[in-house]
Amino acid sequence: MIGFQYSRAQDVADAVRQIAAEPSAKFIAGGTNLIDLMKQDVERPSRLIDISRLPLRSVEETASGGLRIGALVPNADLAYHPLIAQRYPMLASSILAGASAQLRNMASTGGNLLQRTRCYYFYDTATPCNKRVPGSGCSAIAGLNRMHAILGTSESCIATHPSDMCVALVALDATVHVAGPAGARVIAFADFHRLPGDEPQRDTTLQDGEIVTAVELPERGFSAHYTYLKIRDRLSYAFALVSVAAGLELEGDRIKDARLALGGVAHKPWRDPTAETALRGQPASQATFASAATILLRDAKGYEHNRFKIDLARRAIVRALTQAAAGTPQLQSSKKIA
Ligand SMILES: Cc1cc2nc3c(=O)[nH]c(=O)nc-3n(C[C@H](O)[C@H](O)[C@H](O)COP(=O)(O)OP(=O)(O)OC[C@H]3O[C@@H](n4cnc5c(N)ncnc54)[C@H](O)[C@@H]3O)c2cc1C
Ligand code: SF4
Repeated sequence: MIGFQYSRAQDVADAVRQIAAEPSAKFIAGGTNLIDLMKQDVERPSRLIDISRLPLRSVEETASGGLRIGALVPNADLAYHPLIAQRYPMLASSILAGASAQLRNMASTGGNLLQRTRCYYFYDTATPCNKRVPGSGCSAIAGLNRMHAILGTSESCIATHPSDMCVALVALDATVHVAGPAGARVIAFADFHRLPGDEPQRDTTLQDGEIVTAVELPERGFSAHYTYLKIRDRLSYAFALVSVAAGLELEGDRIKDARLALGGVAHKPWRDPTAETALRGQPASQATFASAATILLRDAKGYEHNRFKIDLARRAIVRALTQAAAGTPQLQSSKKIA
C-alpha cells in the first residue's frame, strides 16, 4: 500500500469541496471494498476523505409514500429496518444474500452501489486489465471467464457488477441522489451504472466531485409477490453467478405488473423493460415465465468458461418468477432453494 493523506469531511458541502480540490482523492465510507483494493495496489488514492460521520444514516418516509435511505445507512441496518422489511422485502432479502454479517455491519448503502468488480484480473496487477489500466487489454476475454458477463459486454471488458442490493434497487425503480460542484441531482437507478463500452474504467455515470447522498424508493414495493434468488458456488459468502430480483402484481392468475432484474450477468444490474412487457396481461404460468426469460436473454453471449450462465439464467428467471407468483420467496436463512 502506498502512502496517502487522510481527512474527515465536516458536511456534504465540505466533502464535495475536498474531492473537487483533489481529484485523485477517494471517499471512504465502510472501507470494506476500498481498503482491500488499496492493499492490493489496485486503487492508489492520494487522500482518503472520510465521510463515515456525515449525517446520512437515516431512513425517512417521503411525501410521495416512498422512503429515502441515507448513503451511510449500513447494509445490516437497512435489511432489518422495519419499513424495509415490511414494504420492500425484496430489498431486504437481496442485502441478506450478500457478503457476511460482519461485512454488512460495516458496508454502507452508497459504498454498495460503488463497489468495484470482482474480476480476478482487475485485482491482479501483474495482468492486463482495461478497467484498471485503460488501454492495457482485457485478460478475461481469452482467459478464465467463468464469473463474467453474458449481456452488454464489449471488446474492452466483460466484467460484472457484483452487488446484490443493486439488483433489487433497479427492479424497484429506485433513484440515486447525488451532490456535486454543480449542485444536487437525481439519477434513475437504471442509468446509474454503465455498460463497459470502450471506457470500462468508468463504472457509473457519477461526475467528478460528486457524492451519493441518498437512495430513494418509490411507494410500490411488490411486497406480496417477490423474490430474490441468488445462485452461487457456495450458499453463503460468495458473489452471484446469476441472481434474479422479481416482483409481480397479480389479478387472479393474471400478471398485472412485473419487475425483473438480473445480477451477475452484466457490467450493471440488468433490467429489461421488454421482458417485463411480455409478462404483463399474461397468465402467471411456466410458459409465460419461460417466454420472458427467452426475451430477456435474446442477446446473451457466452465465453469459453461461462456459457453455462445462459441456461442457468433462463432457469433462475423461471424459478424466481414461480416463487414470486406463489408468494413463496427464497429465504436467505435457508440453504435450500425453494
Ligand atoms: C469478502 C467480501 C464478500 C462480499 N460479498 C458481497 C456479496 O455477496 N454481495 C454484495 O452485494 N456485496 C458483497 N461484498 C461487497 C460489500 O457489500 C461492499 O464492499 C460494500 O457494500 C462497500 O461499502 P463500503 O461502505 O464499505 O464502501 P467503501 O469500501 O468505503 O467504498 C467503496 C467505493 O465507494 C466509494 N464511495 C463510498 N461511499 C460513497 C458515497 N456516498 N458517494 C460516493 N462514493 C462513495 C468509495 O470512494 C469507494 O470507491 C463483499 C465484500 C467482501 C469484502
Ligand atoms: S473483464 Fe474488465 S475488469 Fe476483467 S480483465 Fe477484462 S477489462 Fe479488466
